[in-house]
Amino acid sequence: MTNKFAFPFFNLFFMLSVCGIANGQTVEDKPIFHYSVMDAMRNGVYTGALTIDALAAQGDFGLGTYNQLDGEMVALDGVFYRVAPDGGVAKAEAQRKVPFASVAFFKADQVFELTNIQNIEMLQQEIMRRLPSKNKPYLIRIESVFKELNVGGANKLEAKDTTGLAELMKSRPLYKKQNVAGTIVGFYHPAYASGIDLSPFHFHFISNDKTYGGHIVAGELSSTKIKVSIDEKPGYQLMLPEDNKTFNRPWSTPDKTKGTY
Ligand SMILES: [Zn+2]
Repeated sequence: MTNKFAFPFFNLFFMLSVCGIANGQTVEDKPIFHYSVMDAMRNGVYTGALTIDALAAQGDFGLGTYNQLDGEMVALDGVFYRVAPDGGVAKAEAQRKVPFASVAFFKADQVFELTNIQNIEMLQQEIMRRLPSKNKPYLIRIESVFKELNVGGANKLEAKDTTGLAELMKSRPLYKKQNVAGTIVGFYHPAYASGIDLSPFHFHFISNDKTYGGHIVAGELSSTKIKVSIDEKPGYQLMLPEDNKTFNRPWSTPDKTKGTY
């Protein structure tokens, strides 16, 4: 093939790739990309080698944390945010690394509105009732105004600190805000995935004005409508940290009874 013909072919392939329709599959059809596992966090693995830049190629919607627990991660509409340990929100630097994250490309396949929901527990119960299957993972995007929302952050750790997550979470910083409008970036994970991530739900939040966010601990909802969009995914693509001594050493048996962080 001469250059004359090779060039247009390359361009066409490039366009298909960018549009995400190479191999007849859209990016929204891809599984959830999961970096590391919650059991690693439960066993004190807080450093990874994956950058935000690399993660962004795997999804436009997701959550996670940053190395040494230096902030919480929320990704919405392709923008990756970092909620710093002091509660401040900013766009994450492209080269900042994560020890744990899950992302995917969001495309709603079901949208519904809920009313008369008083708190996060009720909200989760209502969503649970409407999931087509309890055995598939889902992305869950929730837009509403919250009467009060409590989010948790993390305190940045020393590089060698491998204290388990359950112990660390006893002293995690908590931030409370009233009358806040924003989006919950959430996941439903089936019970069998509880070693990979929190099951059944893992919710992070980012306010519309991008000044408040984090891991949702508790919340009360206003009487306003709640818009819920869900996106069923076909499974998981799991990537584990490489050359990571803390990840590779033996772990204690994880306590699966802990539903929170
Ligand atoms: Zn979280």
